[in-house]
Amino acid sequence: MSLTASDKDLIMKNSVGSLMNRREFIHLCALSAAGFAAGCATNPVTGESQFMLVSEADEIKMDRFYSPQQLSSDFGVVQDKQLEQYLQSVGKSMAAKTHRPQMPYRFLPVNATYVNAYAFPGGTIACTRGILLSLENEAELAALIGHELGHVNARHTAEIMSKSQLTSAIVGGVAVIAGVYDKNYGGVAAQIGMLGSGALLASYSRDNERQADDLGIEYMVKAGYSPEGMVGLMDMLKSMSNHKVSTADLLFATHPMSNERYKTAVKTASGKYNAAKSNPLHHERYMDNTAGVRKVKNAIFLMQQGDALMAQKKYTDAESRFNRALKLAPNDYAGLVKLSQCQLMMKNYKKADRSILLAKNAYPQEAQAYYLSGFIKLNREDYVPAFSDFNTYDKKLPGNPYVIFYKGYSLEGQRRNKEAAPYYNKFLQIVQQGKQAEHAYTRLKEWGYIKK
Ligand SMILES: [Zn+2]
Repeated sequence: MSLTASDKDLIMKNSVGSLMNRREFIHLCALSAAGFAAGCATNPVTGESQFMLVSEADEIKMDRFYSPQQLSSDFGVVQDKQLEQYLQSVGKSMAAKTHRPQMPYRFLPVNATYVNAYAFPGGTIACTRGILLSLENEAELAALIGHELGHVNARHTAEIMSKSQLTSAIVGGVAVIAGVYDKNYGGVAAQIGMLGSGALLASYSRDNERQADDLGIEYMVKAGYSPEGMVGLMDMLKSMSNHKVSTADLLFATHPMSNERYKTAVKTASGKYNAAKSNPLHHERYMDNTAGVRKVKNAIFLMQQGDALMAQKKYTDAESRFNRALKLAPNDYAGLVKLSQCQLMMKNYKKADRSILLAKNAYPQEAQAYYLSGFIKLNREDYVPAFSDFNTYDKKLPGNPYVIFYKGYSLEGQRRNKEAAPYYNKFLQIVQQGKQAEHAYTRLKEWGYIKK
């Protein structure tokens, strides 16, 4: 929202309500009902007053609730202490130079193989193995992290939420992640590819991107890197965008890309930040600290090919890519989950079950495998272990309403209707639409819990 000086005065003088149109008012009510405070805030980057419905505490609360779901759908944090500490130290050194150094930042490498990086509004920033493989040096990594820090500092997600319907998009996003393996509700085949599709991530405007680039280069130079890192990053993204690299689709969906961003980086690096051009890029240090990911580089490329084949429903070919990937990187959690998903799609439940057990053992702290495992059990009509899987998922990653539904569904499968009813009831209090809601409602009616 861009306000004129007199608009800003009005906001200062009057209550917010008098300035809102009907849609904004309805939205405000929706947010307030969810526990958000309304009002005006000073943007930490521009220093200007902006219409803001989301407080800093809300940003952190949302981050804590939604980021674990996204991290899990990206196969969790890479089990590589050196890499994790490295990202954390590069990120922290830059966070100290930002406009909101007080935010509880964390910088995480995630196991996903597609090319992406993202930020949640409270300061959780993640980079996939796919993008880490595409970078050449630490300055490019700093540029990438700087850009994401830019989104957090300019409060872009909070801004989008204050203007639009991101809350409902986010709640729907949990649904998308939750619903994918369903046998009876919505079709497994069409939706399995949706997992990790980033439904929980904000889509930024081109202006947001320009501002994040601007802030990113500022932060990285302040942290002592050469601005050439931003040029290198933009060059890499530009060539991916031009060659329509499908593993980077989500990146470009959530971060609009144009040649303009590359040109701006070249201009800014040689203009405003020319003096910093002789600062280091740290190529060696980057290669050393990302050696663990590089070691399984060919396995990751095979998984990317497998994903593309899955999207084309060529499951036999996809399965063989995942199997080849796992020969190169045995016990790779993402590889095992993908293989199991593929086998589930082929209705080979026995194989899918075996693969998902290996995945659970490879990364016991991670939740997603339990979800998939629960669905495989439902397909085998093995309702007792299905309940146990959904229950474990719920303990590891609470707050997903669909898990509540499937716990009820697993109990119904065991003809324990009395115990299933409270789960269906609880689910309906959160979700009122879709096939699962219809199922829960119908059963509660049949069982006499809802009067006709
Ligand atoms: Zn962006």
